[in-house]
Amino acid sequence: MAAITLNSGFKMPLVGLGVWRMDGKDVKNLLINAIKIGYRHFDCAAEYKNEAEVGEALAEAFQTGLVKREDLFITSKLWNSDHGHVLEACKDSMKKLRLDYLDLYLVHFPIATRHTGVGSCGSVKGVDGVLDIDTTISLETTWQAMEELVSKGLVRSIGISNFDIFLTRDCLAYSKVKPAVNQIETHPYFQRDCLVKFCQKHGIFITAHTPLGGAVANTEMFGSKSCLDDPVFKDLAEKYKKTVAQVVLRWGIQRNTVVIPKTSKPNRLEENFKVFDFELSKEDMDQIKSIDRKYRTNQPAIFWGIDLYA
Ligand code: NDP
Repeated sequence: MAAITLNSGFKMPLVGLGVWRMDGKDVKNLLINAIKIGYRHFDCAAEYKNEAEVGEALAEAFQTGLVKREDLFITSKLWNSDHGHVLEACKDSMKKLRLDYLDLYLVHFPIATRHTGVGSCGSVKGVDGVLDIDTTISLETTWQAMEELVSKGLVRSIGISNFDIFLTRDCLAYSKVKPAVNQIETHPYFQRDCLVKFCQKHGIFITAHTPLGGAVANTEMFGSKSCLDDPVFKDLAEKYKKTVAQVVLRWGIQRNTVVIPKTSKPNRLEENFKVFDFELSKEDMDQIKSIDRKYRTNQPAIFWGIDLYA
């Protein structure tokens, strides 16, 4: 499948399946189906609390000969409460995923919070209702521990997630192993061209999380408006004889980002993967540019009592 080459030399498939908010009981069927359709990239995280189920599905896929380990690209992420325990947290994810290496391990958010036990992924708040942030661990210290994962052979590439331009610039300054990826929220209503350009200029690939703007899931969780309802996309979908989601994902690919849409619907797995048999014209790419609302749909502040993006 179509892939890009990271600054680490390893390839990352352009479309992946995100597994956040995927019910543990659905994971096995969805992953096996996805592999049959052609997905080779899975975006996981300790905090999604379904790594054990993902691991079970992967083990079955390997045992039955459906796919080989070396043909898959598996990402996991270090949760905020484990910044002081990077090696143990990574090993815990690998154990649950039943893998002896990860393709990519990301610092999930640029913030260390109170440790709650390796892999337990707590987000403890104080009596004031505000997230307990650990001010003793710098991102540089966390990154040094991430670099050790590469030298130990546990992880092929390391990266960051939800880092803005300033934090990314800082990471470039203190890193020996440069981040291969910055995974950020970006979609037609939140295009973030400056951050995307900054990262690409410095050899850091952008993975677009929330590439469909979170659709119904984020409307339900955060009250956000979905770009899938935008009339511009309805017209483009008609023009290209594709679904709105396919046009949105194609736009993501054509701006050189990797997209990791999540779906728990088997028919949508196929739909979201069929984005390589058409191309949006320059005029249509420009039109999509004009509908940017600079609108973040994923708002962890509702869980943390503090807006870390403020
Ligand atoms: P997405 O933009 O992928 O949207 C998911 C929503 O879109 C769900 O409601 C899904 O519903 C719906 N959907 C999927 N396909 C279609 C389709 N073809 N037509 C209409 N609706 C569709 O948002 P996510 O928040 O799920 O993000 C994707 C992935 O990004 C996550 O799974 C995770 O791996 C990663 N992520 C990373 C974050 C980070 O901090 N690094 C933060 C957030 C996400 P249904 O399931 O019913 O199909």
